[in-house]
Amino acid sequence: MAAFRKVLIANRGEIAVRIIRACRELGIGTVAIASSADADAVHARLADEVYEAGGPKAAESYLNLDRILEIAKESGAEAVHPGYGFFAENAAAAQRIIDAGLVFIGPRPDAIELMGDKVRAREAARGAGVTVSGGTGSLSDPDAIRSIAREVGFPVILKPTAGGGGIGMQIAEDEAGLDKALQTAQRLAKASFGNADVYLEKYLPNARHIEIQLLGDAHGNVTHLNERECSVQRRYQKLVEESPSVALTPVLRERIAGAAVRLAKGVRYTSAGTVEFLLGPDGEFFFLEMNTRIQVEHPVTEMITGVDLVREQLRVAAGEPLSVTQADVAARGHAIEIRIYAEDALRNFLPSIGTLTAFAPPLGPGVRVDSGVREGSAVTIYYDPMVAKVIAWDRDRPAAIARLSRALGEMRVEGVKTTRELGLFILGLDAFQRGQVSTRALETDWMAKFKEAAHT
Ligand code: ADP
Repeated sequence: MAAFRKVLIANRGEIAVRIIRACRELGIGTVAIASSADADAVHARLADEVYEAGGPKAAESYLNLDRILEIAKESGAEAVHPGYGFFAENAAAAQRIIDAGLVFIGPRPDAIELMGDKVRAREAARGAGVTVSGGTGSLSDPDAIRSIAREVGFPVILKPTAGGGGIGMQIAEDEAGLDKALQTAQRLAKASFGNADVYLEKYLPNARHIEIQLLGDAHGNVTHLNERECSVQRRYQKLVEESPSVALTPVLRERIAGAAVRLAKGVRYTSAGTVEFLLGPDGEFFFLEMNTRIQVEHPVTEMITGVDLVREQLRVAAGEPLSVTQADVAARGHAIEIRIYAEDALRNFLPSIGTLTAFAPPLGPGVRVDSGVREGSAVTIYYDPMVAKVIAWDRDRPAAIARLSRALGEMRVEGVKTTRELGLFILGLDAFQRGQVSTRALETDWMAKFKEAAHT
């Protein structure tokens, strides 16, 4: 593989560690950047070289592109991997990295820009024959919004056009609630994203979040690596992910994956990407968005397909064709991931700041732990509070559940509160075991049971 000699990883935590590992397996040298708060962090210690990038605030370090480009030059790195978050879906930053003579390990900036603009992304999806809910244009006129809401039928959900992270989304149960939901959505959109525009979809209260992992290369190949189901969420944010989804028949899987591949081919997508869908109880599905990055939950796909997604990203960025064709992709067994956040689940998932006085990840057959912390690491206010991902693989779903439960039971994390106990609780629930999952199940039903169990 005509790869790079040296790659700069413009990230921290578990994803930086993950990328360093992929590089090392390919014999590629690694350059880490570390904020002053991360001088002793796992990713900084693991890389071949580490440069201080600036102060603890992301804006001073991990989002300090001037400094990062300086480090790239000084270290002689040829390419930059953005991981997820930070610069991963910032088209202008990707372009600057390219203009500096470096390779951006991700899709082309125009694809990032297209998919980052929800209105244009929805147009692209519709153009590729993928169902979107609620039409495509961006809406600022209340009359237009009312008429589309009538068309799709209540309840509806309003979302910021420039949004992400579940922020600012508002549900209107009926026409009477629409004006208020619209005002709130526009106000939050303006405050969080500097743009008050919103769009509208049918709100599906009993939906599943199904996403398709894709890989594309510069030779026009696009391959999908099956679905992940990420329906267990809090505040529209994922907590548990698995593959395959119990909700998909082979026919439905082909339809959803086919839609994702059409969209990716339509934009000549390169690198790893994910098309997200919402699947209703009747088997109807519609496009949510496309994430133009490696995702947190990618290990689930790696466990069932045996394809190393970060390695493929490195190959594709070096101009190589994908190492897998669609015909090669075979899914085997079942994988489930639980995200371990330093959060207090009993206090509305409040981040739990402090020092990890103990951190003993689980081991044993079929278990993978991706983490960027060790005993003594600090969880600070500056960065995402996810401390680890625990993934279990086994031949079928019940066995994978048992294995992940075993692993979480073994795991020790002390000094901060984490979602480990909640993860264990979810795996033990009858509804989860029967595959009765929806994006609202955790908040509307399971959390109350968890709280009750915690207080007895
Ligand atoms: P973001 O880009 O902010 O993450 P998404 O559009 O990807 O927003 O949606 C995130 C989550 O919000 C989904 O996984 C789902 O739980 C919920 N959601 C989004 N759209 C709808 C909808 N139309 N009906 C019901 N739930 C939705």
